[in-house]
Formats: sequence, structure tokens, C-alpha cells
Amino acid sequence: MAEFERLVLTGTPRERGIEHGERFAEAVAANVETYRERFAHEGVDVDAMREHAAEYVEYVERESPDYAAEMRGIAEGSGVDLVDVTMLNVRWEVIYPAWKARTEAENEAATAEAEPPVDGCTSFGVMPCATTDGTTYVGQNWDWLAPIADTLFLMELRRDDAPDVLAMTEAGIVGGKVGVNEHGIGIAVNGLISGDDGSEGFRKPYHVRFREVLDAERYDDALRPILETDRVCSANVLVGHADGELIDLEAAPELVNTIYPEEGVLTHSNHFETDAVESVNERRGPSTLYRAERLRRLLAEETDGDGAGADGVDSAAIRDALRDHFGRPASICSHVDESLPEIEHGQTNASLVIDLQERRILGQRGPPCAGEYHEYAL
Ligand SMILES: [Zn+2]
Repeated sequence: MAEFERLVLTGTPRERGIEHGERFAEAVAANVETYRERFAHEGVDVDAMREHAAEYVEYVERESPDYAAEMRGIAEGSGVDLVDVTMLNVRWEVIYPAWKARTEAENEAATAEAEPPVDGCTSFGVMPCATTDGTTYVGQNWDWLAPIADTLFLMELRRDDAPDVLAMTEAGIVGGKVGVNEHGIGIAVNGLISGDDGSEGFRKPYHVRFREVLDAERYDDALRPILETDRVCSANVLVGHADGELIDLEAAPELVNTIYPEEGVLTHSNHFETDAVESVNERRGPSTLYRAERLRRLLAEETDGDGAGADGVDSAAIRDALRDHFGRPASICSHVDESLPEIEHGQTNASLVIDLQERRILGQRGPPCAGEYHEYAL
């Protein structure tokens, strides 16, 4: 589809937010509209969700003043209401309770509505022992509502009081989703849903945690933001370090399951591998059951580990694997299912391969089979 626009953000949190908001004003407004329409389509009470987001303004201000200041800057720079900007930043934390409320209402109108979208994704990490160049890779295909692809960009944070960061984000969202910092810490994220999601009202939002991961200088401090406090909903977070460490955290509201690489390769999609929680996504999006396993196999075939005779994974092999079309359109390289109404269209919106040693992202917007990867170094 396209290259990422890269926006360098400097100065105070408020100044960074204003810069972000001014540059992507239309995209921020478009994202608010996309989510409102999509959630309304699912029978969610969008006004109640917005009220919940309004209450989160104060919560984020108290818990993470810098994050809140950057959100305020985005609102100021874009002219989009602060509550709507906050709704983007806490969308996971407000949508799960809203879905829960809808389900519990059990009215016929609600049950006739569409199911919530599966926040798809297939992510990976590869350790130096399995790569030809001795580097550590982290990355993913990020699958989500198709219109969001147009609002993605790479934010580059240049800060005196915290690490420099290069991360992909949606216009309006402060915390990056997939990225790397100057200390070689990298992150990839996937949607996960457990039966316990959305039961508790106010806990630190995931996007705030993702920013904190990339604010870390040390690996233990990068893991801490996901682990240290309970969560409103679930998410899968893969955190890697340039010196050859990878840990996958399957986070449910009150439990985190950890997964380590096998033969130097780690992959994850959108279902829990632990039996300790009720995993929900595979009921609506069964492709999660083969996407991660298939990606793992495609990468492992490149190593000596399975006797295939090749000598390791390189970034070209990873890019090939991310273009895999088995099960299309519900493939690793995910495409729009034309049998669905347009409002339900989803696809791979971004594909990223991060070389943690070089602090370099190879990436593109849209399904990766459609174009070339471009290089963005921190
Ligand atoms: Zn494709």
C-alpha cells in the first residue's frame, strides 16, 4: 500500500502532542469516526462508552501526567475533543466493558447485531541463535479495521529525559504499538480476549503501558509495565531485547502467562495458550489457531533446528513468511473478506520486521504482499 510517514516529535509532552495533532488532525478525527461507527454497528452504547472515556481523562492525568499532557496536546493540535482523543487512547479499556454491558442486556436487538471485531495479528520474535546475522528480530502483521491503515504513522520520539523511540501508532494514540527504543528494547502486540475482560472499571490503559515499555532502559523495567498492576482486559505483548532475549506475555485481567522461544523462534496470534483463562477469540476468528503455528513453522524451516538444512532466518525469510496466503483471506497476510459488509472489513494494516540490534524497522502499510518493505532506522 504505502510507506509510513515518519513524524519526529521533540520538546515537552504537550509540544509533542500538539505537533502530532496538527500534522494528523484529519486522521485523528477519522479514527474517532471509524471507531464510533464500528462500535455502534455492534450494538454498543457509544455514548456510554464516551462517558466512560471522559472519566478516564482524570485517571490518566493522575497515573501518568506526561501521557495525559501529550493527549491534551493532540486534542489542542487537532481540534478534536479531548474526550474523543482519550477514547482512542483507552479504547480497549472502554470497549470491553461496553461489550459486556451489551451482552448482559440480552435484548433481541443486541443479539442481532454483529459480533465485535477480532483484533487480529500474527507476531514473532527470533533469537540470535536462529538468525543468519546474529541479530534479534521482533515484529508482526497488525490486522485490524481496514480504514485505520490510512491513519498509521511512525512516531520518532527525541527526548532528553527518556530513551529515543521509533514506533508505529494510530493517529491520535500517544503510546506506540510496535516499535523499538535506543536501548534495543522492542515490542509487538496482539489482541486477546478472555471471559474475564471488562469486569473492572479503571485500571492503567494498555497504550499507557506500551509507552512505558519503550521508555525503559533495562529489560526488567520493560516487562514491569505489563506485569505490575492488574488490567481491565487482555492483550498479548511480546517484548524483546537486542542482546538476545524474548518473552511473550499473555496478559489477562488478573493473570499473566509467559511463553519463551523454542529453538530460538517465538510466535503468537490471538488466542491464549494457557488453559488458566477462558480464551474467546478463536470462536469468532478460528484462523488464530493456525496463523501463529504456521508462521513458527515457516521460520523454523529456515533453521537447522528441524533438519531442513538451511542455516537460519534472515529478514528476507521473515518478510516472505509474513506474505503467506494459506487460508486467504484469513491468512497471515490478511485480506478483506468481501462477503462481509464494508463496515466489518479488516485486513493486515501494517507489517513490521524490527532488527533490534540495528534499531531498524522494515515496514509497510497494508497487506505486505502488495508492496515493498521500506527501511526506517532510529
Ligand atoms: Zn496478501
